Amino acid sequence: MLAFTHVAAGCASSLLVAEYLHAGPVQTILIVAGGIIGSHLPDIDHPKSAFGSRVLPLSVPISAVFGHRGITHSLLAVLGMSWLIWWSLHYVHWQQGFSVPVVVGIATGYLSHLAGDFFTNSGVPLLWPSRRRFVSPLKFCTGDAREYVLAFAPLGLICELLQHYARISSAAHGVKGCLVTATALEMLPHDPEIAESVTTALGHIRSFLLKALTLGKQDGSLAAELDEQAAALFLLCVIQGMRVLGKTAPQEQELTQVVQMAMRTITP
Ligand SMILES: [Zn+2]
Repeated sequence: MLAFTHVAAGCASSLLVAEYLHAGPVQTILIVAGGIIGSHLPDIDHPKSAFGSRVLPLSVPISAVFGHRGITHSLLAVLGMSWLIWWSLHYVHWQQGFSVPVVVGIATGYLSHLAGDFFTNSGVPLLWPSRRRFVSPLKFCTGDAREYVLAFAPLGLICELLQHYARISSAAHGVKGCLVTATALEMLPHDPEIAESVTTALGHIRSFLLKALTLGKQDGSLAAELDEQAAALFLLCVIQGMRVLGKTAPQEQELTQVVQMAMRTITP
């Protein structure tokens, strides 16, 4: 599967887990960050993958010993990697309140990657060292246009992301506010260092939205004439607007209506 599909699946699944666990804003960020990292980790056994190519000293020997889709694509690896990260964070004396959400996110992202590869022709050796490959009866090739539709549906991901912000911007969560939004509001014109940090943080959300919108246009769920650059900026404005309004503790139901209206403006 393509790296972005894995990241999108990792993001969506970790958002759902954060919601299920009623995680606070900080824990949600840590779970989703863990989910994104975890969604990359299994492909450490592939030197040409997006992640493997960045960690060649690790990916080359792992690939030589185990091959692609070997031990790193098994349930044993989910447990081993989660334990290793937990142990590392414990070793550097990270607070338990921070390390638990990260490990939960990494395990979720890792599992979402295995679930994604399960739907491809090659399948995954879930019970490694058993060589048996588990393959979904519903298969599709890596990079196939159907991959986008079946694996994560860009439109659903955008909606889930907006709904997530609606949730953390409402009621008691909303009053706590957002560090990035608060910093942007307080930012002085002659503070380029802070400006760069805020711009980078907002840029990450905007580029993620842009990628999802572009894929939505490719799979036909969004209109071909939609200006994805303008739409990504518009959705970022909606998110930041909800974060500011969140300080007045609006009901989640009200912000859900904002999300529905925003979705209507980008869908055909
Ligand atoms: Zn993989």
